Amino acid sequence: MHMQEDLKNTQVKNFFDQPHDQLRDYLKAKGHKAFRADQLYSWVYKKREESVESMTDLSKDFRAEIDSILEFKRPEVVEFRQSVDGTQKYLFDVGEGKTVETVMIPLKERRTLCVSSEVGCNLGCKFCFTGKYKLKKRLSAGEIVGQFLEVNDRLIKAGDKGVTNVVFMGMGEPLDNPEGVFGAIEILQKDKGLQFSRKRVTVSTSGLVDLIPLVTKSGARLAVSLNGSNDEVRSSIMPINKKYPISVLMDACKKHIEESGQDVTFEYVMLKGVTDDMTHARELAKLLKGVNGMVNLIPFNEHPGSGFYKPDNKRVDEFQKYLLGKGIKTYKRTTRGDDIYAACGQLNGVVKGNQPKN
Ligand code: SAH
Ligand code: SF4
Repeated sequence: MHMQEDLKNTQVKNFFDQPHDQLRDYLKAKGHKAFRADQLYSWVYKKREESVESMTDLSKDFRAEIDSILEFKRPEVVEFRQSVDGTQKYLFDVGEGKTVETVMIPLKERRTLCVSSEVGCNLGCKFCFTGKYKLKKRLSAGEIVGQFLEVNDRLIKAGDKGVTNVVFMGMGEPLDNPEGVFGAIEILQKDKGLQFSRKRVTVSTSGLVDLIPLVTKSGARLAVSLNGSNDEVRSSIMPINKKYPISVLMDACKKHIEESGQDVTFEYVMLKGVTDDMTHARELAKLLKGVNGMVNLIPFNEHPGSGFYKPDNKRVDEFQKYLLGKGIKTYKRTTRGDDIYAACGQLNGVVKGNQPKN
């Protein structure tokens, strides 16, 4: 009995992990026609039907066989909370007792979904709650697509519009998990998949420079967590800067801008007394001079024991005003969902905001 189960498990693949071409090749290897992949994709991603019995144009034999070669497994929601400002936070079970958080932020016509790509993160940025905990798991494409499907379905069921934008700004470093992240992006964007507009997907990276060309190739937008205006400051809060210093990172960004024709968003976390000095604003302006990009100023969201503090509002305004004066598009990110502990850098995948178990 056990052996049979094991054998079965090695053969069965999760449908949601398969970009279209991969599914087609897998089905072909199992002796099925390539168009079966199109049919399954259309049922699941266009008609949003996941029960094989209901897929009426599939032959009886094929339907009977699907069970032994494919499963339709999405991560389950184990907790849901909604903020007074409408922000929603979902906790998903990704197996082995591990969970990730997904945040949906409504703003006017937008429904932005902030998805997680990993449990924990090895980049170890000093100010980040997720980064306090070593990487425990890279999510599969299906576990990322599943976050989207679940929230999107719920929004639509509640009579709201569906998700309009997807940002990889939840837990984890997307470029440390290229297989899961770009697999998910393919499923989201491809004509045969969910047909989600390319420009409405943003990958945020702490600056894994070697893999930025993958973002360019995918057609997604690029956001870079700059967070420091010189190498000394940046290295002190983001260890990755020792490997890829600012000049190398900026060159990669410029290349992306040139090749994609898209702007880059530079995220800049303002940490009181660390990154919020006006000299930093001046350095930032120099760095971004002539670069097609915009700055997102993110006032630090405090979390216990971080040793960092949020900047004064006045300073954030002054910073913004200075950059705007230099002709740099600069936005302030307003804190959303902090009453449910869903703001940037507050995600740790644990229910009720208590400390993660290691
Ligand atoms: N790993 C990716 C994406 C996830 S972090 C990255 O680093 O870009 C998403 C954003 O939240 C990053 O810009 C990061 O700098 C910022 N961030 C992390 N912790 C934060 C905190 N406590 N307060 C405000 N922003 C934070
Ligand atoms: Fe990882 Fe991003 Fe947090 Fe840095 S800021 S530790 S890269 S999740």
